Amino acid sequence: MKIILMGIQGSGKSTQGNLLSKKFKIAYLSSGHIFREMAKEKTSWGRYVKETMNAGVLIPDSKTIQIIEEYLKKPEYQIGFILDGFPRTAMQAKEFTHKIDNVFYINISDKEALWRLAYRNDIVREDETIAAIRVRIESFHKYTRPVISHYKRKKLLVEINGQQSIKKVHQDILKHLKVK
Ligand code: AMP
Repeated sequence: MKIILMGIQGSGKSTQGNLLSKKFKIAYLSSGHIFREMAKEKTSWGRYVKETMNAGVLIPDSKTIQIIEEYLKKPEYQIGFILDGFPRTAMQAKEFTHKIDNVFYINISDKEALWRLAYRNDIVREDETIAAIRVRIESFHKYTRPVISHYKRKKLLVEINGQQSIKKVHQDILKHLKVK
């Protein structure tokens, strides 16, 4: 089972990804998580990733593609994966050649995303300032919308209403899974 989860920051992708991962015993991989780990490295790359993330802008495509492809070669991803946060640009989608079963776009409004992120107090992240969140929302519309169109054309995309309870969103995803 190979799944891609898409959605604006705050849409609940990681919550849903972790639920699916537990249910189907398939590894969950978040590009944001990978970059957050890299941002801790005391190297010039680590510092670059940290600054880029804190500004809310994207890491260059070529580097991102290379890193994700390397990760997906690991044994734990061979039976399948749930990918959160990648691909995020048309170029990433074009270069990513793994055969995907389902792409879920968890849709919430920008207003709801800002509201959820500004008022959530469970996780405090350095890259979650209101300014960075706004840049990320804009970047989603600019760069990630074409990815949605890409998977729509491939008839892989299912849009899920993300403004429902966690349980209902999970159920909606399960209803549309092609491979169980
Ligand atoms: P996220 O947790 O998915 O919101 O990702 C946090 C940050 O990591 C983003 O704001 C980007 O700086 C970087 N990032 C995550 N995924 C990607 C990607 N697919 N392409 C480029 N940058 C990414």
